[in-house]
Amino acid sequence: MADLNYVAPTTAEAAVKALLAGGGMARVLAGGTDLLVQMRSGRLTPETIVDVKAVAGAQGIRQEAGGFVIGAATSGAVIGEHAALSMAWPGLVEATNLIGSTQVQGRASLAGNLCNASPAADSVPAMIAARAICVVVGPNGTREVAVEAICVGPGKTSLAAGEFILEFRLPARPARSGDAYLRSIPRTEMDIAVVGCGVNLTLDTDGTCAEAHVALGAVAPTALLVEAAGAALVGRKLDQEALDRLDAAARAACRPIDDKRGTVEYRTRIAGVLARRAVAIAWQRAGA
Ligand SMILES: Cc1cc2nc3c(=O)[nH]c(=O)nc-3n(C[C@H](O)[C@H](O)[C@H](O)COP(=O)(O)OP(=O)(O)OC[C@H]3O[C@@H](n4cnc5c(N)ncnc54)[C@H](O)[C@@H]3O)c2cc1C
Repeated sequence: MADLNYVAPTTAEAAVKALLAGGGMARVLAGGTDLLVQMRSGRLTPETIVDVKAVAGAQGIRQEAGGFVIGAATSGAVIGEHAALSMAWPGLVEATNLIGSTQVQGRASLAGNLCNASPAADSVPAMIAARAICVVVGPNGTREVAVEAICVGPGKTSLAAGEFILEFRLPARPARSGDAYLRSIPRTEMDIAVVGCGVNLTLDTDGTCAEAHVALGAVAPTALLVEAAGAALVGRKLDQEALDRLDAAARAACRPIDDKRGTVEYRTRIAGVLARRAVAIAWQRAGA
């Protein structure tokens, strides 16, 4: 890593300028739990590192307009200790806290998890199900992008030159709402999801599902928002038919790879199973 240029700007404008100045050889650094591993292995050889942890707004959690704003570089540990966020979005917080070990949690951020663009990233299906929005800052100002529009393939994002994610916005939580994230891994922890499933739903006063969002990870080149799976629940009670329709919709969306961690058949089947289980948890959390 000779002649590595490290900068730690304190404003978003300065970060954008540093990213542009570094051209294609500049990289954003948040917690470094992916980036530093890739640099040490020689897979990535950036010339400029733009550490965004000191950028105003990139750290911390605040409540705004009934929802939450999470700084893009906020660590998993800080997210896990936030009582109000954990109460409103337990599934999203649990997904974030599944990332790595205690040491990794001290650094790993939501933006790093998303922008590393692994199809198996744990927080991403939970953020997609939550309908989280990314606030992206770049040379042309600020734009808001749905989380599912950031990754375009393994290791690839839709962010343009000079752009980075400053924060995530979570919408206001209606009454009778619940979320959940479940993953399947061969080991008990510290492993990459073979399948991940995030669910977020809201119930009517009579216990019927009013709104539902289901997202799957590790079953396609990017995490997927499976609209048909959410639609399978809307207007229904939590019964066998609704769960069967959900299971079928989740399986139909899968386009997984076949590798030593799981065959196409296995990943597809598990997607349906996890969707059923995550929906049951979210439903219970919604107060059914
Ligand atoms: C031991 C170990 C275990 C792990 N276990 C898991 C696991 O169980 N589940 C899981 O999902 N992941 C796991 N990971 C991967 C990693 O910890 C996560 O992906 C983490 O969330 C990355 O966040 P970070 O802040 O460290 O990102 P960084 O390493 O700083 O950045 C990762 C990528 O995102 C880009 N980036 C970072 N911030 C921004 C931003 N604000 N805007 C634009 N681009 C940005 C960087 O340029 C880089 O390309 C593990 C890693 C290790 C080392």
